[in-house]
Amino acid sequence: NDRRKESIITMLQDVCTLLRSQAKLHNIDLVLNYEENEVIDCDRSQIKQVFINLIKNAVEVMEDGGRITVDVESDEHNVWVNVADEGPGIPKHLVDKIKEPFFTTKKNGTGLGLMITNQILEKHEGGLNVHDNEPTGSIFRVQLPREVSKA
Ligand code: ADP
Ligand code: MG
Repeated sequence: NDRRKESIITMLQDVCTLLRSQAKLHNIDLVLNYEENEVIDCDRSQIKQVFINLIKNAVEVMEDGGRITVDVESDEHNVWVNVADEGPGIPKHLVDKIKEPFFTTKKNGTGLGLMITNQILEKHEGGLNVHDNEPTGSIFRVQLPREVSKA
């Protein structure tokens, strides 16, 4: 366990820089929006892994290009990061399945990304929700408390 006060904005900028060239190859713009710096108690490499998993999934479903938008919101106690894509979205009957280990709809998928993502967020006393994007696509909403109570 290696938790420190870290800027979630710096982590998101690092991850976007890492993945932007891969996105560009698929004609995808990767846009990060935030209003101010946000600091949370976290294991930096694990939280970066969360955003890598979510943005990679978004890139992998947007075969015709488009835009991935990463929006940061916050209140006194929590920070939320919404990763919105313009892919096909997730059929209702699969929404509860996608976090299960080895569930994948990809030819070469492992089906482990969202399970690991969910585990990391639970360890940080946060969570992950999935919504429909309009007019098409999905929004993965990450919630992270600014302070983690457990040692
Ligand atoms: P993998 O990427 O190896 O398939 P994940 O755990 O990351 O494993 O995702 C599991 C499944 O959830 C994917 O195969 C896909 O069916 C679905 N999924 C995840 N992210 C998205 C997304 N942004 N849009 C549509 N479906 C998604
Ligand atoms: Mg994945």
